Amino acid sequence: MCASGPHLPAHRPELTPPGVAQIYLERLGVRLEGQSVAGVETWLRVPEWSLGIDVGRSPEPIVRCKHLALTHAHMDHAGGLAQYLALRQLYTFEPPTVYAPAESCADLAAIVDCWGKLHRRAFGWTLVGLRPGDEVALGGGRWLRALPADHVVPALGYAVLERPHRRKPEFAAAAPGELRRLAESGVIIAEPTERVLLAISGDTLPTVLDRVAELHTAEVMVMETTFLDGRRTVADARVGGHTHLDDILARADTLRPHVFIPYHISQIYTPAAARAALAERLPPELLTRCRPLLP
Ligand SMILES: [Zn+2]
Repeated sequence: MCASGPHLPAHRPELTPPGVAQIYLERLGVRLEGQSVAGVETWLRVPEWSLGIDVGRSPEPIVRCKHLALTHAHMDHAGGLAQYLALRQLYTFEPPTVYAPAESCADLAAIVDCWGKLHRRAFGWTLVGLRPGDEVALGGGRWLRALPADHVVPALGYAVLERPHRRKPEFAAAAPGELRRLAESGVIIAEPTERVLLAISGDTLPTVLDRVAELHTAEVMVMETTFLDGRRTVADARVGGHTHLDDILARADTLRPHVFIPYHISQIYTPAAARAALAERLPPELLTRCRPLLP
């Protein structure tokens, strides 16, 4: 669970801004919460893993996460970083670990250093630069893997994975007593496998759908879908390095997540208009698995 310090009661619902999306992921037994409006603010968190993805303007729920993975250094995703560090310090939460694209770390650290000088007090935190393929342990048997993203600034997606041990195929038919005897004699009967629990694209062109395996193997796929219909064209999406629902529809046959979560939807759509566009345009089998990150 997320850490809680002595200066903030565990539950302060009035500090949570209105409009937070809450999606219970039954297969994973966790909640995905967040707010994401393109250009305005994006943050998501899985409280059970104490993991935040992007910090937005640093609302109270994200401050409780001790791991924060930034997808990129655009203001609507990373602008609240110093506020996040300041609030964690105020609440005496443990110093967090922040992950970010390696190319952006020097500038992020410089901004936080400036705020530390203004406060006359340095912020306690650890900043870890990541490149695609890098992995860090989140605890609880889970890892965070940086995924490539194709945006207009250095950017990453992220996957959360587990490595459960499964019995090797050659022992599939062995009886329990035989397995026990083999294990006791030192034979390795199980091997680690990879289970991708959740993958989040970050801000990106749809090219990642053609080259990032984790977006396809993840049980829960969180995919940037900035524009949803003809109110903006695919060319409009490309200008900002973004994905259009048309790009998803063109690849819909290849998408097999148990849960598909479009996010980073443009502010030109009200939540109701966004739901209507998705309902009208997604093929039925993808629509039944679609749970957009909307209030
Ligand atoms: Zn961006």
